[in-house]
Amino acid sequence: MDADSPYKLLFEPVRIGPVVAKNRFYQVPHCNGMGRTYPSEMAVMRGHKAQGGWAVVCTEQCDVHPSTETRREIRLWDDRDIPYLARMVDEVHAHDALAGIELVHMGQHGLNLYSREPVMAVSGGALDSVSPGTARVMSKRDIADVRRWHRNAAIRAKQAGYDIIVVYAGHSISLAMHFLSPTLNQRTDEYGGSIENRARLFRELLEDTKDAVGDTCGVVVRMAVDELMGERGIMSEREGREVIEMLAEVPDLWDVNCSDWTNDSVSSRFAEEGFQEPYIDFVKGLTTKPVVGVGRYTSPDKMVSLIKNGVLDMIGAARPSIADPFLPQKIEQGRIEDIRECIGCNICVGYSNLMVPIRCTQNPTMGEEWRRGWHPERIPAKDTDDRVLIVGAGPAGLEAARAFGQRGYDVVLAEASRTLGGRVMREAALPGLSAWRRVKDYREYQLSQMGNVEVFFDSEMQSATVLEAGYSLVVLATGASWRQDGVGRSSKLPIPGHDQPFVIGPDQVMDGTPVEGPVVIFDDDQIYLGGVLAEALRIRGLDVTLVTPGAVVSAWTDLTLEQHKIQSRLHELGVNIIPLHTVRDIGDHTVTLDYVYSKAQQTLSAGCVVLVSTQRPNDQLFFDLDATQSTWAAHGVRRVVRVGDCYGPGTIASAVWSGHKVARDLGEPEGDDVVFKRDVVALPERLR
Ligand code: ADP
Ligand code: SF4
Repeated sequence: MDADSPYKLLFEPVRIGPVVAKNRFYQVPHCNGMGRTYPSEMAVMRGHKAQGGWAVVCTEQCDVHPSTETRREIRLWDDRDIPYLARMVDEVHAHDALAGIELVHMGQHGLNLYSREPVMAVSGGALDSVSPGTARVMSKRDIADVRRWHRNAAIRAKQAGYDIIVVYAGHSISLAMHFLSPTLNQRTDEYGGSIENRARLFRELLEDTKDAVGDTCGVVVRMAVDELMGERGIMSEREGREVIEMLAEVPDLWDVNCSDWTNDSVSSRFAEEGFQEPYIDFVKGLTTKPVVGVGRYTSPDKMVSLIKNGVLDMIGAARPSIADPFLPQKIEQGRIEDIRECIGCNICVGYSNLMVPIRCTQNPTMGEEWRRGWHPERIPAKDTDDRVLIVGAGPAGLEAARAFGQRGYDVVLAEASRTLGGRVMREAALPGLSAWRRVKDYREYQLSQMGNVEVFFDSEMQSATVLEAGYSLVVLATGASWRQDGVGRSSKLPIPGHDQPFVIGPDQVMDGTPVEGPVVIFDDDQIYLGGVLAEALRIRGLDVTLVTPGAVVSAWTDLTLEQHKIQSRLHELGVNIIPLHTVRDIGDHTVTLDYVYSKAQQTLSAGCVVLVSTQRPNDQLFFDLDATQSTWAAHGVRRVVRVGDCYGPGTIASAVWSGHKVARDLGEPEGDDVVFKRDVVALPERLR
């Protein structure tokens, strides 16, 4: 690093009790959908973060006992859990970073569906999730058990090689936090009532951990200082402050944030970088121990100002470290433009909630590090003589061009319009989604640095022009278009009346087609687009009704932690929401709806109807070319492949992934064998 770099401050070491972090970059615990189910994937993914310069790399939450259990994530129930966690430690240590583990007992947040242990909670009561059962009130014996299990897990974590043990009181899912809560904790013994009493278990877990492993491990806290629910919850000016005042010097580091998860991992649609600062900026004034905070930080200038202004000592990150595992190293090397900034879309969160390996819109290698051997920064040099023509510069075409270019291939990227980005730029123009343009910005800059990639605008390719161009490998990234006939999840046939001029699809709304109110949006898609189009049209001043077959708007966005926020925003804006209805037919400026549970109907008047149903791949060019296969050799064409939405319409993340994949495998047919490695459980002996 340059001696006069403005970012030098970020690379100072930080002492965390008996261990020292080599710089100020701290990857906070985060779920990843791999955990103990896909342990090799998890370990190598964490190792890449360490390789990329994160001084501390933590696991996700780790359950300490069968009486607290999620269906995913990791466990330290007994010694049998040590080996795969030790594997992660080894991956992290190989790059001179510290490995942290976040221990938890979840109380009423656990479901214990595997262990079938009854759930226990600070004061008993309903389970957090909709699931049969009621939690029992914890006895003193239960509390003593939890302390012992937590201590034993800490000792095992140390045996696995962890340098940092996180005592967890965050995200409204940890027992220690439930005890702190003025609402959940209704106990009348020495664990309830005053804040000293409510903090007793938290203090005991901390002191137990220090006593058990504090000689060699940093014992740190992850704590929610505000639940953003006013008087009923933990507030930064009340419990947050009081607990930190009381325990100020007990842990070796304070990692503080807002709770629950929906208030912590807020998408960019609902919060800016640094949104948590007003809730956590008091912490450093109360302790001499280092303070970590998160806020989707990707700007090194912002990071420096947080340190200089005494807000934080270390920059905490989950999502920015997923989007760019090499973010610290790039700052250290002065390669700021090379940072792949998180766009705050929460696709990572969504798929981790689905309990499949995490994926990322910006970083196509996330989750593929071990099973496909994809490195986030390195890619094999070209190993064929192909010259590559890529048609379409949306997220798939841009990533394909970038990755082929990085491999050293000569690439031409032909785009019909005058802009890069395709759907990314169209969607980024919708309310709250402007950060999504980073998908284009990152790739545009990378391409500008490559002498072997040429971009041609105003170049709508036909099969004849593709053949004439004579490139051996042709990659079609021509995207997809939204259907306008309403064929989708609820209606497998076109909706009668769809062919009238006042009935349009999402593409026309995004193109700025003039629209007359009142507008009826039928969101049969139920992902995010219908809800954001309703918001956009309402902001234009139109009277908007959103009809959905779901019980709530944009039902899928529950996974990305946005559903509640979306529905609240639409309510605030005055969008009329009609759930549990489908569209029967469209008349002359009328729309007739069917209630999904009976034959009840209602009719709305409409100046415009927007049908958000499904997408159709723009694959005509592919089939035109396919029909000319016998002439390919004469034109020097070896293979034509489709990628992105043109092959399988879906998320922007899948388009980027698909563009990346073709640059690695050249669209080679895969045969019948599974081409990626799998964590297959080896049984001790053959079952008979
Ligand atoms: P994806 O998400 O798969 O990348 P997009 O719809 O975002 O797909 O982008 C597709 C891009 O391809 C758009 O920018 C569009 O203008 C361009 N495109 C579509 N058909 C052609 C074509 N025949 N020739 C050149 N560019 C095309
Ligand atoms: Fe950021 Fe989206 Fe990637 Fe998650 S998926 S890390 S929110 S860019």
